[in-house]
Amino acid sequence: MLDTFDVGHGITCIDTGYTRPEMTACYLMQQGGAAAFIETGVNRNVAGLLEILDSKGIAREAVNYIMPTHVHLDHAGGSGALMNALPNAQLIMHPRGARHMIDPSKLAEGVKAVYGEEYFTDLFGVLMPVDEGRVIVADDGFVLDFEGRKLEFLDTPGHARHHYCVVDELSGGIFTGDTMGLSYPQLRENGYFAFPTTTPVQFDPQAMHASIDRITQYQPDCLYLTHFGRIDEVESHVEQLHRDVDQLVEIVKRQSQSGIDESELISAIGQYLLERAQLAGCELPPPDIEELLAPDVKLNVQGLLHWANH
Ligand SMILES: [Zn+2]
Repeated sequence: MLDTFDVGHGITCIDTGYTRPEMTACYLMQQGGAAAFIETGVNRNVAGLLEILDSKGIAREAVNYIMPTHVHLDHAGGSGALMNALPNAQLIMHPRGARHMIDPSKLAEGVKAVYGEEYFTDLFGVLMPVDEGRVIVADDGFVLDFEGRKLEFLDTPGHARHHYCVVDELSGGIFTGDTMGLSYPQLRENGYFAFPTTTPVQFDPQAMHASIDRITQYQPDCLYLTHFGRIDEVESHVEQLHRDVDQLVEIVKRQSQSGIDESELISAIGQYLLERAQLAGCELPPPDIEELLAPDVKLNVQGLLHWANH
Protein backbone atom coordinates (compact mmCIF):
# COMPACT_ATOMS: atom_id res chain seq x y z
CA MET A 1 0.00 0.00 0.00
CA LEU A 2 1.21 3.51 -0.79
CA ASP A 3 2.13 5.66 2.22
CA THR A 4 -0.47 8.26 3.16
CA PHE A 5 -0.52 11.32 5.39
CA ASP A 6 -3.67 13.00 6.65
CA VAL A 7 -3.11 16.72 6.03
CA GLY A 8 -6.47 17.91 7.37
CA HIS A 9 -9.76 19.16 5.91
CA GLY A 10 -10.53 15.81 4.27
CA ILE A 11 -7.26 15.85 2.34
CA THR A 12 -4.91 12.88 2.20
CA CYS A 13 -1.38 13.24 0.86
CA ILE A 14 -0.42 10.02 -0.94
CA ASP A 15 3.24 9.23 -1.59
CA THR A 16 3.42 7.84 -5.13
CA GLY A 17 7.02 6.72 -4.59
CA TYR A 18 7.91 8.09 -8.04
CA THR A 19 11.70 7.67 -7.95
CA ARG A 20 12.22 7.84 -4.20
CA PRO A 21 10.00 8.16 -1.11
CA GLU A 22 8.57 11.59 -0.20
CA MET A 23 9.31 13.00 -3.62
CA THR A 24 5.98 13.05 -5.44
CA ALA A 25 2.48 13.35 -4.04
CA CYS A 26 -1.02 12.77 -5.25
CA TYR A 27 -3.78 14.27 -3.10
CA LEU A 28 -7.15 12.73 -2.35
CA MET A 29 -9.87 15.19 -1.33
CA GLN A 30 -13.06 13.92 0.31
CA GLN A 31 -16.11 16.12 0.54
CA GLY A 32 -19.72 15.23 1.32
CA GLY A 33 -19.50 11.58 0.28
CA ALA A 34 -17.64 12.41 -2.94
CA ALA A 35 -13.94 12.31 -3.69
CA ALA A 36 -11.45 13.87 -6.07
CA PHE A 37 -7.80 13.41 -6.90
CA ILE A 38 -5.35 16.24 -7.42
CA GLU A 39 -2.50 14.76 -9.52
CA THR A 40 -2.51 11.12 -10.65
CA GLY A 41 1.08 9.96 -10.37
CA VAL A 42 2.20 7.65 -13.16
CA ASN A 43 0.43 4.62 -14.65
CA ARG A 44 1.85 2.16 -12.17
CA ASN A 45 0.33 4.21 -9.30
CA VAL A 46 -3.25 3.63 -10.40
CA ALA A 47 -3.62 0.27 -8.64
CA GLY A 48 -2.29 1.85 -5.43
CA LEU A 49 -4.70 4.78 -5.66
CA LEU A 50 -7.64 2.40 -6.12
CA GLU A 51 -6.43 0.41 -3.13
CA ILE A 52 -6.51 3.57 -1.04
CA LEU A 53 -10.09 4.26 -2.15
CA ASP A 54 -11.01 0.71 -1.09
CA SER A 55 -9.30 1.08 2.27
CA LYS A 56 -11.29 4.27 2.93
CA GLY A 57 -14.55 2.70 1.80
CA ILE A 58 -14.86 5.13 -1.13
CA ALA A 59 -16.71 3.61 -4.09
CA ARG A 60 -15.09 4.12 -7.48
CA GLU A 61 -18.34 5.73 -8.61
CA ALA A 62 -17.92 8.37 -5.89
CA VAL A 63 -14.82 9.94 -7.44
CA ASN A 64 -16.09 12.93 -9.38
CA TYR A 65 -12.94 14.73 -10.47
CA ILE A 66 -9.32 14.21 -11.35
CA MET A 67 -7.20 17.36 -11.46
CA PRO A 68 -3.62 17.08 -12.72
CA THR A 69 -1.99 20.48 -12.22
CA HIS A 70 -0.10 20.13 -15.52
CA VAL A 71 0.75 17.46 -18.07
CA HIS A 72 4.23 16.52 -16.84
CA LEU A 73 4.00 12.78 -16.39
CA ASP A 74 4.80 12.57 -12.67
CA HIS A 75 1.60 14.64 -12.27
CA ALA A 76 -0.66 13.48 -15.10
CA GLY A 77 0.85 10.27 -16.46
CA GLY A 78 -1.81 8.06 -14.86
CA SER A 79 -4.77 10.16 -16.05
CA GLY A 80 -6.05 7.85 -18.79
CA ALA A 81 -5.72 4.66 -16.77
CA LEU A 82 -7.25 6.27 -13.67
CA MET A 83 -10.16 7.66 -15.71
CA ASN A 84 -10.79 4.16 -17.06
CA ALA A 85 -11.10 2.86 -13.50
CA LEU A 86 -13.37 5.66 -12.24
CA PRO A 87 -16.60 5.65 -14.28
CA ASN A 88 -18.03 8.97 -13.06
CA ALA A 89 -14.86 11.02 -12.97
CA GLN A 90 -14.25 14.09 -15.10
CA LEU A 91 -10.74 15.24 -15.86
CA ILE A 92 -10.10 18.93 -15.28
CA MET A 93 -7.27 20.31 -17.40
CA HIS A 94 -5.55 23.59 -18.16
CA PRO A 95 -6.58 24.81 -21.66
CA ARG A 96 -3.05 24.12 -22.95
CA GLY A 97 -2.99 20.63 -21.43
CA ALA A 98 -6.38 19.15 -22.36
CA ARG A 99 -5.47 18.03 -25.89
CA HIS A 100 -2.43 16.13 -24.57
CA MET A 101 -4.69 14.02 -22.38
CA ILE A 102 -7.23 13.39 -25.16
CA ASP A 103 -4.46 12.31 -27.52
CA PRO A 104 -1.28 11.66 -25.52
CA SER A 105 0.82 10.58 -28.53
CA LYS A 106 2.63 13.91 -28.94
CA LEU A 107 3.26 14.18 -25.22
CA ALA A 108 4.69 10.65 -25.16
CA GLU A 109 6.86 11.44 -28.17
CA GLY A 110 8.25 14.57 -26.53
CA VAL A 111 9.09 12.83 -23.28
CA LYS A 112 10.63 9.86 -25.10
CA ALA A 113 12.91 12.30 -26.90
CA VAL A 114 14.25 13.37 -23.49
CA TYR A 115 14.32 10.05 -21.62
CA GLY A 116 14.70 7.47 -24.40
CA GLU A 117 12.17 4.78 -25.33
CA GLU A 118 13.23 2.12 -22.84
CA TYR A 119 13.42 4.41 -19.82
CA PHE A 120 10.09 5.94 -20.79
CA THR A 121 8.36 2.55 -20.93
CA ASP A 122 9.84 1.49 -17.59
CA LEU A 123 8.86 4.68 -15.82
CA PHE A 124 5.65 5.73 -17.55
CA GLY A 125 4.25 2.68 -19.38
CA VAL A 126 1.68 3.37 -22.11
CA LEU A 127 -0.26 6.64 -21.82
CA MET A 128 -3.99 5.98 -22.21
CA PRO A 129 -6.16 8.56 -24.02
CA VAL A 130 -9.06 10.23 -22.21
CA ASP A 131 -12.47 10.55 -23.86
CA GLU A 132 -12.91 14.20 -24.88
CA GLY A 133 -16.46 14.22 -23.47
CA ARG A 134 -15.08 13.62 -19.99
CA VAL A 135 -12.62 16.53 -20.03
CA ILE A 136 -13.42 19.91 -18.45
CA VAL A 137 -11.19 22.77 -19.55
CA ALA A 138 -10.42 25.08 -16.63
CA ASP A 139 -9.71 28.57 -17.90
CA ASP A 140 -8.12 31.07 -15.55
CA GLY A 141 -10.58 31.85 -12.75
CA PHE A 142 -12.71 28.74 -13.35
CA VAL A 143 -14.65 27.87 -10.20
CA LEU A 144 -15.73 24.34 -9.36
CA ASP A 145 -18.44 23.65 -6.82
CA PHE A 146 -17.26 20.35 -5.39
CA GLU A 147 -20.14 19.27 -3.14
CA GLY A 148 -20.38 22.81 -1.80
CA ARG A 149 -16.61 23.23 -1.56
CA LYS A 150 -15.32 26.06 -3.72
CA LEU A 151 -12.24 25.26 -5.79
CA GLU A 152 -10.78 28.02 -7.94
CA PHE A 153 -8.35 27.34 -10.78
CA LEU A 154 -5.56 29.81 -11.52
CA ASP A 155 -3.43 29.90 -14.63
CA THR A 156 0.09 29.87 -13.18
CA PRO A 157 2.86 29.76 -15.79
CA GLY A 158 6.55 29.85 -14.83
CA HIS A 159 7.28 26.15 -14.43
CA ALA A 160 5.07 25.22 -17.39
CA ARG A 161 2.60 27.11 -19.57
CA HIS A 162 0.01 24.34 -19.11
CA HIS A 163 -0.05 24.66 -15.33
CA TYR A 164 -2.89 25.58 -13.00
CA CYS A 165 -3.05 25.84 -9.24
CA VAL A 166 -6.18 25.03 -7.24
CA VAL A 167 -7.35 27.33 -4.45
CA ASP A 168 -9.28 25.40 -1.81
CA GLU A 169 -11.50 27.81 0.08
CA LEU A 170 -12.38 25.36 2.86
CA SER A 171 -8.83 24.60 3.98
CA GLY A 172 -7.41 27.99 3.02
CA GLY A 173 -4.70 26.07 1.19
CA ILE A 174 -3.60 26.02 -2.44
CA PHE A 175 -2.52 22.99 -4.47
CA THR A 176 0.50 24.39 -6.23
CA GLY A 177 1.83 21.55 -8.39
CA ASP A 178 5.36 22.69 -9.31
CA THR A 179 4.71 26.45 -9.37
CA MET A 180 5.78 27.02 -5.76
CA GLY A 181 8.90 24.91 -5.83
CA LEU A 182 10.09 21.65 -4.34
CA SER A 183 10.39 20.84 -0.68
CA TYR A 184 12.50 18.00 0.69
CA PRO A 185 10.98 16.58 3.88
CA GLN A 186 14.19 14.55 4.35
CA LEU A 187 16.17 17.78 4.67
CA ARG A 188 13.90 19.60 7.06
CA GLU A 189 14.31 17.75 10.32
CA ASN A 190 16.21 20.69 11.76
CA GLY A 191 14.90 23.35 9.49
CA TYR A 192 12.96 23.92 6.38
CA PHE A 193 14.30 23.64 2.87
CA ALA A 194 12.71 24.18 -0.53
CA PHE A 195 13.69 25.74 -3.84
CA PRO A 196 12.17 26.52 -7.26
CA THR A 197 11.98 24.00 -10.06
CA THR A 198 13.29 25.29 -13.39
CA THR A 199 12.71 22.06 -15.33
CA PRO A 200 12.77 22.26 -19.17
CA VAL A 201 11.33 23.39 -21.47
CA GLN A 202 9.01 26.18 -20.36
CA PHE A 203 10.78 27.69 -17.35
CA ASP A 204 10.16 31.43 -17.40
CA PRO A 205 11.53 33.41 -14.45
CA GLN A 206 9.31 36.47 -15.06
CA ALA A 207 6.19 34.34 -15.23
CA MET A 208 7.28 32.38 -12.17
CA HIS A 209 7.70 35.55 -10.10
CA ALA A 210 4.26 36.71 -11.25
CA SER A 211 2.64 33.36 -10.42
CA ILE A 212 4.25 33.29 -6.98
CA ASP A 213 2.85 36.79 -6.36
CA ARG A 214 -0.56 35.77 -7.60
CA ILE A 215 -0.65 32.79 -5.21
CA THR A 216 0.52 35.04 -2.38
CA GLN A 217 -2.33 37.49 -2.98
CA TYR A 218 -4.72 34.75 -1.87
CA GLN A 219 -2.99 34.77 1.53
CA PRO A 220 -3.03 30.99 1.77
CA ASP A 221 -2.76 29.32 5.18
CA CYS A 222 -0.75 26.52 3.64
CA LEU A 223 0.49 25.18 0.33
CA TYR A 224 0.11 21.60 -0.86
CA LEU A 225 3.25 20.94 -2.89
CA THR A 226 3.32 17.95 -5.19
CA HIS A 227 7.01 17.60 -4.30
CA PHE A 228 6.30 17.14 -1.38
CA GLY A 229 3.59 17.67 1.18
CA ARG A 230 1.83 20.46 3.02
CA ILE A 231 3.90 23.43 4.06
CA ASP A 232 2.75 26.04 6.54
CA GLU A 233 5.70 28.45 6.39
CA VAL A 234 4.09 30.30 3.49
CA GLU A 235 5.56 33.76 4.01
CA SER A 236 9.20 32.75 4.37
CA HIS A 237 8.77 30.17 1.61
CA VAL A 238 7.54 32.83 -0.81
CA GLU A 239 10.37 35.25 0.01
CA GLN A 240 12.97 32.55 -0.43
CA LEU A 241 11.44 31.36 -3.72
CA HIS A 242 11.67 34.84 -5.20
CA ARG A 243 15.30 35.12 -4.06
CA ASP A 244 16.17 31.68 -5.42
CA VAL A 245 14.65 32.33 -8.84
CA ASP A 246 16.80 35.47 -9.10
CA GLN A 247 19.89 33.69 -7.81
CA LEU A 248 19.56 30.75 -10.19
CA VAL A 249 19.12 33.09 -13.14
CA GLU A 250 22.07 35.16 -11.90
CA ILE A 251 24.33 32.10 -11.75
CA VAL A 252 23.42 31.21 -15.35
CA LYS A 253 24.00 34.77 -16.54
CA ARG A 254 27.38 34.93 -14.83
CA GLN A 255 28.40 31.63 -16.40
CA SER A 256 27.15 32.58 -19.84
CA GLN A 257 29.68 35.41 -20.01
CA SER A 258 32.43 32.82 -20.20
CA GLY A 259 30.42 30.40 -22.34
CA ILE A 260 28.12 28.00 -20.55
CA ASP A 261 29.49 24.63 -19.65
CA GLU A 262 26.82 22.23 -18.42
CA SER A 263 29.00 20.42 -15.89
CA GLU A 264 30.26 23.70 -14.44
CA LEU A 265 26.71 24.90 -14.15
CA ILE A 266 25.70 21.67 -12.39
CA SER A 267 28.43 22.18 -9.82
CA ALA A 268 27.62 25.89 -9.37
CA ILE A 269 23.89 25.27 -8.86
CA GLY A 270 24.63 22.19 -6.73
CA GLN A 271 26.93 24.26 -4.54
CA TYR A 272 24.37 27.04 -4.21
CA LEU A 273 21.63 24.62 -3.13
CA LEU A 274 23.93 22.75 -0.77
CA GLU A 275 24.78 26.01 0.99
CA ARG A 276 21.13 26.95 1.09
CA ALA A 277 20.27 23.60 2.67
CA GLN A 278 22.99 24.02 5.27
CA LEU A 279 21.89 27.57 6.06
CA ALA A 280 18.38 26.21 6.47
CA GLY A 281 19.69 23.94 9.21
CA CYS A 282 20.10 20.64 7.40
CA GLU A 283 22.69 18.66 9.30
CA LEU A 284 23.13 15.68 7.00
CA PRO A 285 26.68 15.20 5.73
CA PRO A 286 27.17 17.29 2.54
CA PRO A 287 27.65 14.23 0.27
CA ASP A 288 24.25 12.91 1.41
CA ILE A 289 22.58 16.24 0.71
CA GLU A 290 24.26 16.41 -2.70
CA GLU A 291 23.14 12.90 -3.55
CA LEU A 292 19.55 13.68 -2.61
CA LEU A 293 19.54 16.92 -4.62
CA ALA A 294 21.44 15.62 -7.66
CA PRO A 295 18.48 14.62 -9.89
CA ASP A 296 16.72 17.97 -9.34
CA VAL A 297 19.96 19.92 -9.80
CA LYS A 298 20.41 18.21 -13.16
CA LEU A 299 16.84 18.90 -14.27
CA ASN A 300 17.06 22.50 -13.07
CA VAL A 301 20.29 23.03 -15.00
CA GLN A 302 18.75 21.58 -18.17
CA GLY A 303 15.80 23.95 -17.81
CA LEU A 304 17.99 26.97 -17.08
CA LEU A 305 20.17 26.18 -20.10
CA HIS A 306 17.13 25.83 -22.31
CA TRP A 307 15.84 29.17 -21.06
CA ALA A 308 19.23 30.86 -21.51
CA ASN A 309 19.51 29.58 -25.08
CA HIS A 310 16.07 30.72 -26.23
ZN1 LIG B 1 6.33 19.66 -13.74
